[in-house]
Amino acid sequence: MIANYFILFIFGACIGSFLNVVVLRYNPEKTALLGRHLGGRSRCRSCGKSLRWFELIPVLSFAFQGGKCRGCRQKISWQYPIVEILSGAILVAAYWKWGFTPEALLISLFALSLLVLSFIDFYFQVIPDELNLFIGFLGLIFVFFGAWDKSFGPTEGSFIGYYASVLGFRQNIFINHLAAAVFAGLLFYGLIFLTRGKGMGVGDAKLALAAGLFIGWPDIVLALMFSFVLGGLFGFVALVSRKKKMKDLLPFGPFMAAGILLIVFLGFNICHGYLRFFNLV
Ligand SMILES: [Zn+2]
Repeated sequence: MIANYFILFIFGACIGSFLNVVVLRYNPEKTALLGRHLGGRSRCRSCGKSLRWFELIPVLSFAFQGGKCRGCRQKISWQYPIVEILSGAILVAAYWKWGFTPEALLISLFALSLLVLSFIDFYFQVIPDELNLFIGFLGLIFVFFGAWDKSFGPTEGSFIGYYASVLGFRQNIFINHLAAAVFAGLLFYGLIFLTRGKGMGVGDAKLALAAGLFIGWPDIVLALMFSFVLGGLFGFVALVSRKKKMKDLLPFGPFMAAGILLIVFLGFNICHGYLRFFNLV
């Protein structure tokens, strides 16, 4: 058992090391996310030195080199170990919750896509269409699998388990996930319309729609609630500490990703804990 977790973490960290390349070589001017610019050897971002194999080991290389390039002693971005560790953690968490199952695989791909998208949105203030389309596609597979096999997916067909039953739309999985996508899409396009495009971007709306299709109703409502709370708190702290001004744009993708992943991995525990705290169950 422990060995499985260990191997999955290392495997995830290797995927993370590839995802770092996807993020850093992303070019918003080019349409293809995985274009020709992914080829070639990895180099130091400051001095251009080609990296040897032992400088490409996830997490460990960064740790042993003290976060500095061996050639020019320039600091290496913290993004590398962070993405590697988070990717490893995603596979471990999916295995812990769902074992070696198709849902664990789909949820891992979903979570890894959210991770890449968060970093791209953070650096470039854009969420690539390819990633939103890929998430929508994963959502469709998730729904069809769920319709075909009743034991597929989270307990009671929701990441918050039986608590979902009070919020309706439980008879049909297609209607449930479609309702979630429509709700999330309308909410964000409505926000874009009301704020005249100053708050959210179209990429955020597409992501909300695609993620709604994947996680269904009412999970998407809770996930978006969490993301607004997280984004609001972070924005407030950034304003107070004068790191950002009111007119600065705060990319919303990372907060949406965080809210969604909180619900996917801990939704039931959060609802249960909340209701227990107020003595409601
Ligand atoms: Zn260097």
